Amino acid sequence: MTVYLHEEDLPAGVLGDGPLAVDTETMGLITPRDRLCLVQISDGRGDEHLVRFGPGSSYDAPNLKAVLADPGRVKLYHFARFDLAAIEHYLGVEASPVFCTKIASKLVRTYTDRHGLKDLVRELLGKEISKQQQSSDWGGTVLSDAQQEYAASDVRYLHAMHEILTERLAREHRTAAAEAAFAYLPHRARLDLLGWSDKDIFSHES
Ligand code: MN
Repeated sequence: MTVYLHEEDLPAGVLGDGPLAVDTETMGLITPRDRLCLVQISDGRGDEHLVRFGPGSSYDAPNLKAVLADPGRVKLYHFARFDLAAIEHYLGVEASPVFCTKIASKLVRTYTDRHGLKDLVRELLGKEISKQQQSSDWGGTVLSDAQQEYAASDVRYLHAMHEILTERLAREHRTAAAEAAFAYLPHRARLDLLGWSDKDIFSHES
C-alpha cells in the first residue's frame, strides 16, 4: 500500500480497471472562490494517487480528466455533490457515473443521523480514520505526511463500503431510489455552481 503524489496530472496507466474511488481537497467550501488543490484517486487495489494542482494551475490534466470522464467507470465518492462541482468547475468534466456512500448511507442507515465518512468507516468496516487534517491548508507548496495520509485515507475505504452498501440497498429495496439519486447528482452539483447551493428546488418553501 503506497501513497503517490503527482503534480498537475495523473501519470498514464497507473490505475487498474473497474470503479475508482475519488475525493478532492480545496481551499474551502465555496467552489468558484476556493480553488481545487488536490484530487485523490484509488482503483481499490491498495495504492492511492494524489494529484496536486498549484496556485496558478491551468488544470490541463488530460490523463486525470480522461479517467474521471470515462462513462464506463463508476466513480465512488463520499458526498459526491461537492466533488462533482469542484471537478466540473476546475477540470471541466462530469465525473460520472456516480456512487455516493453518503447518500447510500442515508437510504439504508435510517437508524442514525451520523453519515460522516468517519462514522461510516467505523460502523461498516470497524476501522478508524482521522479527520484532523480536514481543515488544513491544502494550497501550500509542501503537503505534510499527515496531510497526504489523510487525503489518501479519504479514498482508501470507498470500494469496501461500496460493496457493503450495494448489498444493503438491495436488502432494503432501495437500489432504484439510490440509482435515481446518483444519476441526478451531476445536475445537483451544477445547480450549486449556478447559485442554488443552499436552496432545495423541490421544497414547497421558497
Ligand atoms: Mn477529503
